[in-house]
Amino acid sequence: MAYDFDLYVIGAGSGGVRAARFAAGFGAKVAVAESRYLGGTCVNVGCVPKKLLVYGAHFAEDFEQASGFGWSLGEANFDWPTLIANKDREINRLNGIYRNLLVNSGVTLHEGHARLVDPHQVEINGERFTARHILIATGGWPQIPDIPGREHAIGSNEAFFLKELPKRVLVVGGGYIAVEFAGIFHGLGAQTSLLYRGDLFLRGFDGSVRTHLKEELTKRGLDLQFNADIERIEKQADGSLKATLKDGRVLEADCVFYATGRRPMLDNLGLENTSVKLDERGFVQVNDQYETTEASILAIGDVIGRVQLTPVALAEGMAVARRLFKPEHYRPVDYAMIPTAVFSLPNIGTVGLTEEEAKKNGHRVQIFESRFRPMKLTLTECQEKTLMKLVVDADTDKVLGCHMVGPDAGEIVQGLAIALKAGATKQHFDETIGVHPTAAEEFVTMRTPVSD
Ligand code: FAD
Ligand code: NDP
Repeated sequence: MAYDFDLYVIGAGSGGVRAARFAAGFGAKVAVAESRYLGGTCVNVGCVPKKLLVYGAHFAEDFEQASGFGWSLGEANFDWPTLIANKDREINRLNGIYRNLLVNSGVTLHEGHARLVDPHQVEINGERFTARHILIATGGWPQIPDIPGREHAIGSNEAFFLKELPKRVLVVGGGYIAVEFAGIFHGLGAQTSLLYRGDLFLRGFDGSVRTHLKEELTKRGLDLQFNADIERIEKQADGSLKATLKDGRVLEADCVFYATGRRPMLDNLGLENTSVKLDERGFVQVNDQYETTEASILAIGDVIGRVQLTPVALAEGMAVARRLFKPEHYRPVDYAMIPTAVFSLPNIGTVGLTEEEAKKNGHRVQIFESRFRPMKLTLTECQEKTLMKLVVDADTDKVLGCHMVGPDAGEIVQGLAIALKAGATKQHFDETIGVHPTAAEEFVTMRTPVSD
């Protein structure tokens, strides 16, 4: 049968754009459908605008520390609408770049909501198109628990477009987004509380990292409330919000921001017209080659709920394009040693196993840990400490994990990830000459294990 397209991609986000462009580059006839914004979550309501807001929030401490270096500044004033307008302008520019990338690589762009009609057919804007392969790359959507007053709360999508900076914010959740946005709101001057339902936030990160970040955020005056969960939210006559917690306490705020995970975006996608199955968590079920339970339909990125990070969606998109249209270049995605950063203030950077995972996996571990006041702060009043930690296999000397909390942790850990991917041992770290004076050199000068 002759199809309209070799590949029809639903979703022009990180994974979809990468798959579409590469497939077209390999000579396939490709279309991509996008219902909202080119570049998807990362470009529009994720990584990029988030990082710009983090940069904005960081200036607060730069101004404070400047006096130690002889600078005297007038009173610093912050204007939220300026930051948001400039952010929007940059995102518009990026949307244009994504459009050009797609068009210039020969991909047909359909703007509208795409729906599966059958295993080889998509409907969009009242037109139907057939394709040999269909790729679901529809990403995710913020998930807010169904509590009374949920309609008064916002998620990350709305946070990027608030008209003004709220004076008092309750951030609910203890994952990446909660910690990052708590830092943004706090840094920009809002009175901010982070409410997490468990004992300590960032479940799954190394224990030392979680504790260290807790201490640093507390030093900065961020109100951290653990074992705290909201039961209901009510709007008061003056427009402010009243949050009643499960333990009976009542907190007042101008904004309640939920960052409690993301669900797969499957709304009105027409999956019922196919035999695509979902896994037990509700994400699209795929095998190692991103094939769903319907032979002609594949899925990648956040919608499969494996590792919800842009570089992972990109790698999955590339793998699909290669396997379908350039099989001689196909390499499976390696999910081991994925580095990641949390852009909290201070940042977390991490790659490899945590101490807890290494022990659970049966490794006999040696731990190297260093906490120090960064050189930049020695002329300031700031008492912030940086944490660096190595998890080493005591039997093979292999470095199993690197973890850091401190300025530029993400930048530093990216380089270390290459070393770990190449199988670096602690001896390799020891034999590496440091770059002086940097914080990063601490990673190659830790000599004495803190425990066996
Ligand atoms: P998406 O980028 O979400 O793209 C899916 C696209 O499909 C969207 O454009 C959507 O409009 C479109 N779509 C959905 N349904 C349809 C339909 N039926 N028809 C047509 N189009 C449709 N990751 C990092 O690595 N680093 C970070 O710093 C980072 N920060 C983040 C901050 C926030 C606030 C959030 C929410 C996420 C962040 N992420 C970060 C995660 C990252 O954004 C995602 O992992 C990544 O965008 C997933 O890419 P994707 O292609 O799977 O989906
Ligand atoms: P996460 O899954 O990281 O965290 C969700 C948090 O919400 C957890 O602390 C969880 O608690 C808590 N939670 C879940 N359900 C409830 C509930 N019903 N009531 C109260 N708390 C609840 O999700 P995020 O929304 O923060 O981010 C989604 C994903 O996006 C991330 O996992 C990450 O992959 C990606 N991302 C990456 C970033 C980066 O690379 N810098 C930045 C932002 C997002 P518990 O731990 O107890 O389950």
